[in-house]
Amino acid sequence: MKTSLPLLLACGAAQAAPGEPPIGKHQAEIDAIVREISPQRIQGYIEKLVSFGTRHTMSDTESPTRGIGAARRWIKSELERCGAGKLDVQFDSHLHPVATRLSKPTEIVNVVATLPGTQPASKDRIYVVSGHYDSRVTDVMNFTADAPGANDDGSGTAAVIEMACVMAKHRFDATLVFMTVAAEEQGLFGSGDWAQKAKAKQLNIAGMLNNDIIGSSHDEHGKQDATQVRLFAEGVPPVRETTPELRTLITTGGENDSITRQLARHIKDTGERYVDGFKVNIIYRRDRYLRGGDHSPFLDAGYAAVRFTEPHEDFNHQHQDLRTENGKKIGDLPEYVDPAYIAQVARVNAASLASLALAPAVPQEVKVRTAALDNGTELVWKANAEPDLAGYRIVWRDTTSPLWQGAQYVGNVTTFRLDQSKDNVLFGVQAVDKDGNVSPAVYPVPAR
Ligand SMILES: [Zn+2]
Repeated sequence: MKTSLPLLLACGAAQAAPGEPPIGKHQAEIDAIVREISPQRIQGYIEKLVSFGTRHTMSDTESPTRGIGAARRWIKSELERCGAGKLDVQFDSHLHPVATRLSKPTEIVNVVATLPGTQPASKDRIYVVSGHYDSRVTDVMNFTADAPGANDDGSGTAAVIEMACVMAKHRFDATLVFMTVAAEEQGLFGSGDWAQKAKAKQLNIAGMLNNDIIGSSHDEHGKQDATQVRLFAEGVPPVRETTPELRTLITTGGENDSITRQLARHIKDTGERYVDGFKVNIIYRRDRYLRGGDHSPFLDAGYAAVRFTEPHEDFNHQHQDLRTENGKKIGDLPEYVDPAYIAQVARVNAASLASLALAPAVPQEVKVRTAALDNGTELVWKANAEPDLAGYRIVWRDTTSPLWQGAQYVGNVTTFRLDQSKDNVLFGVQAVDKDGNVSPAVYPVPAR
């Protein structure tokens, strides 16, 4: 089959091919999930988290009302209550030895709620969404002072609880893991342990979304911007030794097509479609300067992982002892978070997760034939196994463009030829199901 294409369509939709699924249309089920995300419940979760006084990783674990132990027991019971019969909720713990930011051996406990996938061909494919429920004040070793952590990271924790409770009422082909982790502030010990165990078990984590400091739409000068969120997405990983896969990516100009960047494009496309007037601002970085987050251990384990963070941080309301200076309140207090804004970020997460977990897996062994000098492009890939697969879509963009500019649905085939030159544009191949759910794109590597 040979098709000529208009070069670089404005927004992705070529004329519909026969049997083309409704790609890019709103799906009623995802709309329903997005609508159900509740700012009121998110506010209630944050107030409850703050009520434990401190959630420092080394704080009290025995008290029923104060400290990290009470906090995690409440998170677990809340998830068990709202997800009864649907979510499998577990403590995932390990004993961490003394470390630079840990003055005593400490049991690090993540609360992990799993919504198992319902399609046999997809249930081993996992998407993880996380927030960290531990908190801190100015001195990272101070585990007794009040550390409300409303924004950092009560906001992400509340968003994860809300998503788990709303999404548990729905069914997805792939598995969703809603995780609230501990010891982010002490060195990413909760997420790090989980990511390493996932890698050792060779779990197919197809994407990880970290929500950390998604609570405020105001910056330190009081300027408000509730219309966007930052999405940090790494390109080439900072590995000590280049792997053959990475070398291929770089030598063919694919450094902006890492699995994490492809995930970020998918989230931006889906999130902005389902959350009206809200912008997902992809940042080409692992994280902000001087900062890190729970997506990092997943990146280091070779998984696609991104971080959501509010657009303008107010450092007076993060990692601070509660006090008043020059008439100004300092500290991470609930009055400085905006539940309506958090709900918008949660909606972007939920729409993306739903879309990913309903869609087929990314196509495997995607290649571009380069055996002969030729001004066209021939792409080949391996057939997917999902029973609801409709076919494949090829997307493309200028080599200098961050986002896909053109797309063509090509049906249920495993090879396709385009007249556009592989030398001039970047291509990707996506798998599509019968409802129009699209996988992230896969960068084709050269096949000789
Ligand atoms: Zn944080």
